[in-house]
Amino acid sequence: MSDGRALARAYLEQQRLLGTDTVALPPAATGGGAAVAPGRAIEASRVGPAESANPPAPPARTGSKSAPEIPPPGLTYDPPAQDLFSTDPLQRAATLDDVATLVAPCTKCRLCESRTHTVPGEGPDDARLVVVGEGPGRTEDETGRPFVGQAGDLLVKILAAIGFAREQVYICNVVKCRPPQNRSPLYDEIASCVPYLFRQLEILQPKVVLAMGNTAAQTLLNTKQSLGALRNRVHRFRGLPVIVTYHPAALLRNPNWKKPTWDDVRIAHRLLDG
Ligand code: URA
Ligand code: SF4
Repeated sequence: MSDGRALARAYLEQQRLLGTDTVALPPAATGGGAAVAPGRAIEASRVGPAESANPPAPPARTGSKSAPEIPPPGLTYDPPAQDLFSTDPLQRAATLDDVATLVAPCTKCRLCESRTHTVPGEGPDDARLVVVGEGPGRTEDETGRPFVGQAGDLLVKILAAIGFAREQVYICNVVKCRPPQNRSPLYDEIASCVPYLFRQLEILQPKVVLAMGNTAAQTLLNTKQSLGALRNRVHRFRGLPVIVTYHPAALLRNPNWKKPTWDDVRIAHRLLDG
């Protein structure tokens, strides 16, 4: 198969997975020969080296709906670094397993009362991409694993669309115990739990953090700004690039957000390539 056809096929597969109307093709593949579904909008975009056999071309922007460039910088958040001589067991946790061991018996907030299992997170400790959601739902509470319900199925599709298997990504949440009736975690619950997440990120040192939904975005960036205002910027948390996007559960309710989510994960993908 020619490069053009392979690219067209890959992008059509992405479109099928995400259910969006737009097929994104790099300019090199939009010329004759690239097979795309008739009647579909074709979006010319500049892509990173791993996506194109050709050397990166300058963006062809005129007259086309542009794909996201690496967007400008956003908020930076540097919560206090650990005390070198701390005796806090969390600061002494050297591995993700150490963190999970501390989470398991945790009673720092009221969410411990109704949980069945803690859900610390899962994935390889050398993951380049970390996904942060809000908190466990029912299936997560039952199994002790993050994103295994309906939202998890959609997350797997989103990750597949940028070439990641679930197993390659570290997946976790802001709070590690399920809030009753799946309500949003309260401020004091987040404040009690977030040191675990911060320590996980410190240990993981991923290339990109994908914050999905308001709770993850606002917690990681220490802001009350809305998701809409935070999207389309490369933020930093302790120096780690953070991309903000919609939560998969919100996408299930509002399919209009699939296209912007797709744009966001492509930005994350480009940062991972670089
Ligand atoms: N499942 C999770 O693990 N986290 C969420 O935020 C939603 C569903
Ligand atoms: Fe501890 Fe976090 Fe569970 Fe609260 S939600 S009990 S802080 S692990």
